[in-house]
Amino acid sequence: MSQGIVSVSYIGATILFILALGGLSNPETARRGNLYGIVGMGIALLATIFGVVTANYGLLLGGLAIGGIIGFVLARRVQMTQMPELVAILHSLVGLAAVLVGFANFMDPTVQLVGVDLVIHDIETYIGILIGAVTFSGSIIAFGKLSGKIGGKPLILPARHWFNLILVLAMIWLATQFVEGSEVGEGLTPLLIMTGIALVLGIHMVMAIGGADMPVVVSMLNSYSGWAASATGFMLSNDLLIVTGALVGSSGAILSYIMCRAMNRKFLAVIAGGFGTSGGTTVSGEDQGEVVPINAAEVAGLLADAKEVMIVPGYGMAVAQAQHIVYEITRVLRDKGVNVRFGIHPVAGRMPGHMNVLLAEARVPYDIVFEMDEINEDFPDVDVSVIIGANDIVNPSAQDEPNSPIAGMPVLEVWKGRTTIVLKRSMATGYAGVQNPLFFKENTRMLFGDARESLDAVLKNL
Ligand code: NDP
Repeated sequence: MSQGIVSVSYIGATILFILALGGLSNPETARRGNLYGIVGMGIALLATIFGVVTANYGLLLGGLAIGGIIGFVLARRVQMTQMPELVAILHSLVGLAAVLVGFANFMDPTVQLVGVDLVIHDIETYIGILIGAVTFSGSIIAFGKLSGKIGGKPLILPARHWFNLILVLAMIWLATQFVEGSEVGEGLTPLLIMTGIALVLGIHMVMAIGGADMPVVVSMLNSYSGWAASATGFMLSNDLLIVTGALVGSSGAILSYIMCRAMNRKFLAVIAGGFGTSGGTTVSGEDQGEVVPINAAEVAGLLADAKEVMIVPGYGMAVAQAQHIVYEITRVLRDKGVNVRFGIHPVAGRMPGHMNVLLAEARVPYDIVFEMDEINEDFPDVDVSVIIGANDIVNPSAQDEPNSPIAGMPVLEVWKGRTTIVLKRSMATGYAGVQNPLFFKENTRMLFGDARESLDAVLKNL
């Protein structure tokens, strides 16, 4: 394949990736966006395999087959509730690839550079490995936290900010040692030590982050994985990798910013750790009075008599896979003339856009699905709010308890409506581990049980 065709293919793939990102910004165009991404990646792979690679085809195809099969099986098996963990572990693979490619490139005897070219190449290698290692270890910890294998409680070491600073300064000093050493054919030792330090930094940074702030971490690691790929692109002089990495890196950074705004957090403060750390005055699992249970027939009665219904889905809806039955209930109520709307919190569920994806899958019309900022002021006019497996995102202590781990996080003010019905299985806390005073309010009714089974019973009674 000629260099010209490779360049044209790369430009085509880049355009398709940009169109993919554009498409993914809206649920209505997300499928098309996904398709653009798949085609773009297909073109990029073919151009690289037949236009850039010149030898070792057996090794390449073997790797592609093994990786492809593992990816295919994983993607088919993964449950919707495991998607966030899958995304985290995939980020870790991007980081690992950047580290391995960096070392392979550094040790490649065919790379013969001198003078400024060598220094620039060394810096690219160093940065690529550094970001890759932080992404790798940080994503593994994020995977552990999201899958519940590691507790959500932040690890708060004494003088943790100083510890981070010392690690960063050590890596800067090692960079000078590496660049100097590399000129005389050495440099592997500082590179290896830096990799170790970067791995520790990645672990420490994510361990220090409190449960409710995990959405920022997920999008931040997404961004890091992009920058790691981009740095690898510079190292390998591969334009497509540079552009694709920059697209992922910048879109991840924008997403992190959006998530920080949604959580009312400062980006740097989340990264440095410390939020969700003060312990709070509300102890996990602490009772705050009596709750009032309700049964499915009573819920059906309340819904049928209502004029304004607001449905607030959370992580529990994903666990119960209740989105389809939610749609059925919505349809029946709308046929009865009830105005049904959905209120979506930006960090509901376990990944950005989690609820929108589930509702789109169940074919809930987009025009009745609203972002928190669009509908939060409407709750006083709502007759019945139905909270389906949501907890932290409707917790009033975010506003009332300055010491709560979720203090300051904007929440859906469902308690301002006439009646609030909460569907969950027990009195267990949400992801942030704090009890929810909403459950004990006078106008709250608890429908205990698996959300799908409960809603099934409600539908039968409607
Ligand atoms: P929460 O995790 O706060 O609460 C979910 C609730 O669902 C639980 O209280 C649980 O109670 C209930 N539940 C679980 N399974 C079922 C079921 N089968 N049927 C009925 N109820 C069920 O979720 P929210 O969506 O309210 O909040 C999201 C939290 O996750 C926030 O703290 C956010 O910061 C964090 N997070 C978000 C990410 C994102 O990108 N969106 C990423 C990482 C973390 P019970 O066990 O009693 O049933």
